[in-house]
Amino acid sequence: MEDVSHRLISWYESHKRALPWRETSDPYAIWVSEIILQQTRVAQGYDYYVRFMHAFPSVGALAEADEDQVLRLWQGLGYYSRARNMHAAAKQIVAQGSFPRTYDALLNLKGVGPYTAAAIASFAFGLPHAVVDGNVCRLMARLFAVEEPIDTSKGKSQVESLAKALMPEEQSALFNQAVMEFGALQCVPSSPRCEECPLADKCLALSQGRVEALPRKSHRTKVTERYFHYFLIEDGESLYLRKRTDDDIWQGLYELPLKEVATQDAEEEMPPVKSVRHVLSHQVIHASLYRQTVVPPLPPREGCLVVRWSDLDDYALPRLVQILLE
Ligand code: SF4
Repeated sequence: MEDVSHRLISWYESHKRALPWRETSDPYAIWVSEIILQQTRVAQGYDYYVRFMHAFPSVGALAEADEDQVLRLWQGLGYYSRARNMHAAAKQIVAQGSFPRTYDALLNLKGVGPYTAAAIASFAFGLPHAVVDGNVCRLMARLFAVEEPIDTSKGKSQVESLAKALMPEEQSALFNQAVMEFGALQCVPSSPRCEECPLADKCLALSQGRVEALPRKSHRTKVTERYFHYFLIEDGESLYLRKRTDDDIWQGLYELPLKEVATQDAEEEMPPVKSVRHVLSHQVIHASLYRQTVVPPLPPREGCLVVRWSDLDDYALPRLVQILLE
């Protein structure tokens, strides 16, 4: 075990990417980076992180921000509940008077689960918690030939125990960074670099010829199909937008007037001008766009805002709506 940890850490020291959130022990900056990087590649998340930290350099600045401004900065990253939760948690922290410093106290923050709490506890405060993300799961599953699917609680807890057993207590932050980076750059999902791997002689998946078969997944996630009819009603200068307020995807974002229908066959009086299939993590949205041009001025309409085309950039729109409007 000790040998594997040493090899991981020394690999990390010579291969790590220089990333701004690795150069700090500020729990706020680490928290922001971890939330942005969930479900997002580093290359894409990097610019968002820089912009976000520039706009809200402290937890107090985030707490005071307007939700529309927070969502506007998040536009394009998806999983908008992450931004809304982080905004709510910033207010929680300000109300408490200081940033929580223990794993359990971190877990009490809105939107902070075991992964993020472990990451902040380890990277900001040096506490010995194993950080288990998708990269760590894959590496542990291959190294130790874990048979349990890693998307089950049993599989996750096996992976966590293995990561904990490998982690040198006094170097938890360094070790966690090393394992995550190793999974991201070396033990990648397809065609991992086994021929130049410093752990090759210890890797059970490699010795058993099962590298591509591990980790196993149960694929229990249920995907819902939804059918959205969007209406672009405009007068050449302005269009209608509405804010999504329900507890559903894209809460707090703006979209065109929407009618959600039960089936693909539901028809409108006019033909759609565009149809898009949009895939989210647990939903597939079949969207159709209908266009109606009216004589100016666009009259007020209940539940809608009349927004000038030239002001559209001030509103956070889901990616799907941006695609429909392109
Ligand atoms: S030998 Fe291959 S599968 Fe095993 S840890 Fe190294 S890169 Fe991953």
